[in-house]
Amino acid sequence: MRREGILTVVSGFSGAGKGTVMKRLMELYGDTYALSVSATSRAPRPGEEEGREYFFKTEDEFKEMISKGRLIEYAKYVNHYYGTPAEYVFSQMKEGKDVILEIETQGALQVKEKYPDTLLVFITPPSAEELHSRLSSRGTETDEVIAQRLSQAAEEAVLMPRYDYIVINENGRVDACARELHGLIQSQHGASG
Ligand code: 5GP
Repeated sequence: MRREGILTVVSGFSGAGKGTVMKRLMELYGDTYALSVSATSRAPRPGEEEGREYFFKTEDEFKEMISKGRLIEYAKYVNHYYGTPAEYVFSQMKEGKDVILEIETQGALQVKEKYPDTLLVFITPPSAEELHSRLSSRGTETDEVIAQRLSQAAEEAVLMPRYDYIVINENGRVDACARELHGLIQSQHGASG
């Protein structure tokens, strides 16, 4: 008999290397997982494609999705709406895929409240100093943006104890992190019976 998939939420500070870990997870175990694609009211960045990074919506379209109950959760983050469309998540889980939502902390806690079996994982660099140096070394952000991201990180850090697991992304350990995440998710199949 086919098992139903596990729902996992992955959050982490901007600069934690979350995107790189998720990419590696999909390279290693792409058949096991489905990554949810969110809807957002922010504009696409250069190189982003409709339906790949996000479903890009106007604010009115996004509000209509909310009122029609089509989102599992949503949050306003730096002036824009972000939310998870329900349909894809549940259809993939029914097909036995383990579904991953890569979303910020407010949305993560909404999902956990609605679906208590959800696994919440937080990815962080090993220290505040390391976070600062990773944000600076990107070379693309101004000092002001770096300061904003760090103060956002301080707010998010307060919610870390509400997560089930914290994964530390040490320099050069992307592979180990992806494998650790995979192990945590797969151990839930046994846990949920
Ligand atoms: P960005 O604009 O950089 O793509 O994303 C900004 C933040 O929104 C990130 O922390 C990202 O994880 C979060 N995010 C992306 N999609 C969703 C979503 O569907 N719901 C929530 N609550 N946050 C999301």
